[in-house]
Amino acid sequence: MKTFTGIPASPGVAVGRVLVYAEDEIPEIPRYSITKAEVSSEWERLQKALAVAVSELTVLYEQAGREMNREQADIFQAHLLMLEDVDFHDQLKERLKKSLQNIDWVVWDTCGEMRRKLMESPDPIFRERAVDITDVSRRVISRLLPAAYSRSSLAELNEDVILVAHDLMPSDTLTMDKSRVKGIALDEGSGTCHTAILARAFNIPAVLGLSLISREVKNGEMIALNGSTGTVTVDPDRQTLDLQENQKKIHSKQIDELSVLRELPAETIDGRRVTLKANIGLPEEAEGVLHYGAEGIGLYRSEFLFIAPGRHAGEETQFLAYSKVLKTMGKLPVTIRTVDLGGDKVIPAFQAANEKNPLLGWRAIRLSLANPELFKVQLRAILCAGVSGNVRIMFPMISGIEEVEQARALLDEARAECKKKGQPCAEDIETGVMIEIPSAAMTADILAEKSDFFSIGTNDLIQYSVAVDRGNEKVGYLGESHHPAVLRFLKRTIDAAHEKGIKAAMCGELAGDTSATALLLGLGLDEFSMTASSIPRIKKIIRSTSLKSCQKLAAECLNGRSIAEIRASVQRWMADNAPS
Ligand code: PEP
Ligand code: MG
Repeated sequence: MKTFTGIPASPGVAVGRVLVYAEDEIPEIPRYSITKAEVSSEWERLQKALAVAVSELTVLYEQAGREMNREQADIFQAHLLMLEDVDFHDQLKERLKKSLQNIDWVVWDTCGEMRRKLMESPDPIFRERAVDITDVSRRVISRLLPAAYSRSSLAELNEDVILVAHDLMPSDTLTMDKSRVKGIALDEGSGTCHTAILARAFNIPAVLGLSLISREVKNGEMIALNGSTGTVTVDPDRQTLDLQENQKKIHSKQIDELSVLRELPAETIDGRRVTLKANIGLPEEAEGVLHYGAEGIGLYRSEFLFIAPGRHAGEETQFLAYSKVLKTMGKLPVTIRTVDLGGDKVIPAFQAANEKNPLLGWRAIRLSLANPELFKVQLRAILCAGVSGNVRIMFPMISGIEEVEQARALLDEARAECKKKGQPCAEDIETGVMIEIPSAAMTADILAEKSDFFSIGTNDLIQYSVAVDRGNEKVGYLGESHHPAVLRFLKRTIDAAHEKGIKAAMCGELAGDTSATALLLGLGLDEFSMTASSIPRIKKIIRSTSLKSCQKLAAECLNGRSIAEIRASVQRWMADNAPS
């Protein structure tokens, strides 16, 4: 028995067999010469591989049509069309005859060339097709060389597993078979990285930042994972298994108890009412958030629409996704954040070449403003969907007032375009900015003049305040929400909002962190938006405390000189005020 300790990233307990997922296992493709006489047998080999690939994709396409959204089914259809494309076949045959190389190599080389040409195109739609080519060529090669190519697909699991990997792309997390993945353990990552956020959204226990776990465990080994304490035990003994089983029961009992709070307001005992909302990444999540008593969506991470492999979500697809969320939420407000791609959420269509510091690079609003036509597609889709509900728009990674002005001007253009086409669209939409860069927090008073609300993105605000990559487990310990600098940025932002008469919300993970609730209340935060399942826990704290005591705590913390001092104040407060 061996125990690893990492970052508790998504609560819950899971016990099961390991599946080690190696993301990018591209085998060495053999290359050898063939004779003219061997051309026909090589061609036949390809036909067989194609037939298997086509039947696999047909099953996936039909399954996706039943179980996923249209967008995901479309991906498989596009792959099928490519495999059956006559020009593609002609190209392969021609090259096979001319080069007299084995067919595996011909497929790999031809697809590689197609991929390179697409990547050079200025048109993002073409560039993202490159991902489809990679997917399709891998599928065919895996059928031509089954022994060499053993890459497992997370979308097609036929038994329950605990997924162990070095790291996962958001697309892996989005497309994996969530009914089969019972737990996630990663070498990389932190509590605020996107795998953690998605794992919490899907209620999958996860422990991240485990450094070497993917090298230490083997496929099929038994492990017990506790996403609440951050431990992973390999080959657990009876005692450990009993302990985990017990914790599992406690966890589900707590969930049942907290659901009683659903209908009650988030109000302190001395009458301070705040709003608790949910963060979502997929339209399908909207329904579930109502179960936890969310009073709206405080952050809809729209970029996840684009991260599904190989797709560019066009205006219609976006419109349908946004309408679905708005209709589900009825009159409750839905805050759609315009795409925050780039940084750690890269798609080929918007891949900045070789950025040395992607987190400081071409991401979020910078990318949208650099691609105004694509940005307006999103804005039009939001405006048109807005007629079905109560929509708000939020711009990510704002660094200064110019970006807000440009974004708002494009919103006006998008509205005018909808009207010109006679499309009904929402009027008087509130537009807000995310405060997640120190320069935005420092100029919050200026930004407030052009904003209807603020939403503080603490995941990034902390990362940029203390210069720590939020996905890097080696420096993760420095990414401290209770750093005096972070508290000062929060105070400044909330005060600036209130001075201009607008609300200050928070949609970073800190909003759902029970150790920060009292402090945030004391600082004057109006709205907390978090993973829906955290809402009852936060509400319980709010309902059992007084604003007055929180304000006292906030004042004490603002005087704190170090993280340790601030944490000690919070600990004392919690010991004195813990809800029964
Ligand atoms: C944040 O930075 O706090 C935030 C909510 O945005 P994201 O986590 O998607 O970067
Ligand atoms: Mg952010």
